[in-house]
Amino acid sequence: MSRRHSQTQEFPHYDASRKELPIYTYREELVEAMNRFQCLIVVGDTGSGKTTQLPQYVLEALPEIRNICVTQPRRIAAISAARRVADERRTRLGEQVGYSIRFERSASSSTRLLYVTDGTLLRSVAADPKVSAYDLVVLDEAHERSLETDVLFGLLRRACRLRPELKVVVMSATLDIDKFSEFFGDAPVFSIPGRMYAVDILWQKKMKLGTAKATFVRRSVDTVLHIHKNEEPGDVLVFLTGQQEIEQATRLLQEAHEALDYVEVRHRSRVHDIAVYPIFSALETLEQRAIFEATPEGVRKIVFATNIAQTSVTIPGIRYVVDSGFVKQKMYDAQTGVDALVVVPISQAAATQRAGRAGRTASGKVYRLYSREAFEDMEPATVPEIQRSSLIGTVLSLKKMGIDDILNFEFIDPPDPDLVVAAIKQLFLLGAVDEHGHLTPLGHQMSEFPISPFLSRVLISAALDFSCSYEALIIASMLSVEEIFATPRGKKKQAAAEESRRRFDDPSGDHLTLLRIFHEWRDYGYSKDWAFSNFIHFRALQAARKVKEQLTEIMERLELPIVTCEVDDREREKKRLRRVEDPDHGRIRKAGICDFGNGRHVDSTPILRAFCTAFYVHTAKRHPQRPVFYPYVTSIGANVPTGQQTPGGSGMSSAHLMALYLHPQSALSTEDINRLDWVIYNDIQYVNRATMRVSSKIRFDWVDVLMGRLKVVDEERLAGRTPATREGRRPSIISAVGEVDSKSEENEEND
Ligand code: ADP
Ligand code: MG
Repeated sequence: MSRRHSQTQEFPHYDASRKELPIYTYREELVEAMNRFQCLIVVGDTGSGKTTQLPQYVLEALPEIRNICVTQPRRIAAISAARRVADERRTRLGEQVGYSIRFERSASSSTRLLYVTDGTLLRSVAADPKVSAYDLVVLDEAHERSLETDVLFGLLRRACRLRPELKVVVMSATLDIDKFSEFFGDAPVFSIPGRMYAVDILWQKKMKLGTAKATFVRRSVDTVLHIHKNEEPGDVLVFLTGQQEIEQATRLLQEAHEALDYVEVRHRSRVHDIAVYPIFSALETLEQRAIFEATPEGVRKIVFATNIAQTSVTIPGIRYVVDSGFVKQKMYDAQTGVDALVVVPISQAAATQRAGRAGRTASGKVYRLYSREAFEDMEPATVPEIQRSSLIGTVLSLKKMGIDDILNFEFIDPPDPDLVVAAIKQLFLLGAVDEHGHLTPLGHQMSEFPISPFLSRVLISAALDFSCSYEALIIASMLSVEEIFATPRGKKKQAAAEESRRRFDDPSGDHLTLLRIFHEWRDYGYSKDWAFSNFIHFRALQAARKVKEQLTEIMERLELPIVTCEVDDREREKKRLRRVEDPDHGRIRKAGICDFGNGRHVDSTPILRAFCTAFYVHTAKRHPQRPVFYPYVTSIGANVPTGQQTPGGSGMSSAHLMALYLHPQSALSTEDINRLDWVIYNDIQYVNRATMRVSSKIRFDWVDVLMGRLKVVDEERLAGRTPATREGRRPSIISAVGEVDSKSEENEEND
């Protein structure tokens, strides 16, 4: 400990900027409170210094608290905080201060302060329920109520009972903290008064949320141009919904700005140029760093961001906020079993947070791209993620920790029991739990993988049943990273990108297309140039490669064989080539064969069959006359089409029959639709309609046998409900019924 003391003396003085933060005044009181209480709630406005300062105060003043873990709901926020704090302490990242997020870690044995994602901590708590690796756990951004943070609440409360010396601090940017305090046995609340300047609110008259959704990207760009032409200097922060919308807006703005007549820009504004920064979770940190730097004179910084900039990352210099009014949110429909990303209106609380970003350094303005009436229609607060997510991964983690009675787990806000039961049922369908809801050996293996239980099921099956685990690993890795395809600027380039993308299309569908892309990149020495010239995000590929390495390690640890189904019959191919003298030989596609050229090819059948072992619950059948599909399996069993329609509006359908569309970028979208019958899909994206992401052709007999499990589902037994509570409920024993009724055709026009 004395050794630690000498380390504090290396950093005796604070940088002026650290001293200026609102939290600084309360430094001693905070330390004192942390010393006294096991649990503490800290509330303070965004930018007050909670994330970066509080853990440092502990480092400096409480040497007996050796290991500190701070959670963030987002990867990019964990890295950014760790980097910032390491800089402030003038240490190298990964030494005293580090971070650990899924598939990426920068830490060492000397690390005392570790920033992690809540998902990372959740996985380590699953293996170590006493959280013995840390003396202090800080649950940051608790107001976000991410699924993982909510589960950690319950687990940490348990750990506090098991280990009285463990300390827990819950940090929140909003005031509704009574619930947190109560949950941790009336833990004391420490509140840091914020510093806020006035923010003018400007509404877009008559803009209802229903109509706003189709046009907000365009209107946000127009608003930025309006600000740039008319407003005083000051940076602009635009809240959009996701990577695609941000890339689109960035493109539109740059095009418009190039065309902008400089005379138009009023001289009094003294800004002539713009610097545009996108910020979303898939971005790498290096690029992001520039966002925090002050803009040079005469330049206006424009930041297009997702919700990440709402509370978890503070960008200095923002005076104007453009609020689209929308957010991309996870939604789960336990009825259809569809887990989707949906663009929905934000809550009033979120709108207030967004507006607050404009008043950090001086008075500011928020341009709300919706009307005052639309604001009144918004929900007061965002529904916690745990109440609108598939809980399959969560339930698997809890089961792994021996917590079998999930329905009675201490959740801060319990999820709907239907969601819990649906998750257990899915785990049963994947073979991870037995009919009593107990983890099977397969389930144990699956829980070792930091990826979706669906994908871990595929990997195990690919290794043990279909001898194609190498290929499955690549595809699973490609599915575990963000957007692969880049959308360049300009119509011409976009056409080129589209054409380039089509070159990789595999007739079997998107799974093999992803494999093809990775293979070719590998053949080109994992080259950046290759990625660039093929309009593919190099970062996404690199991430996939890293994921693949880590998944490979886990496979090896679990002694699951890594085998390839690739055939290298170069010799034979060469001869054939000479004989037929077909220069296009390598590009000719044989049905079911994914040809990589050079005589190497893989057979798609075993790979897709391995995917079917998990994704058979995502089987869809094409409508006999129309280019839409219907989910074949829902959480109530195999689909029994009744001709119900998909309701319109912003929400998802709760009807059992929901029309599913092929993704416009899908390899299958250029196929003759009449040749498509059965497909499996990875997930559903719901923007204006339900779109299947990553779909491939399958044969029904591949999934037929697997569907047998659906017939033996007894939800009550799976959930461990006692006979008393089962009274009046019938176990759902449903038989598979196949054909889609053509009557449903007329009812699907409104989606
Ligand atoms: P809080 O957690 O209360 O929102 P933070 O500790 O994240 O506050 O941030 C405090 C201040 O530190 C912010 O106002 C911002 O100016 C600065 N800051 C935080 N992270 C970074 C970073 N990665 N780079 C530059 N400045 C940062
Ligand atoms: Mg913070």
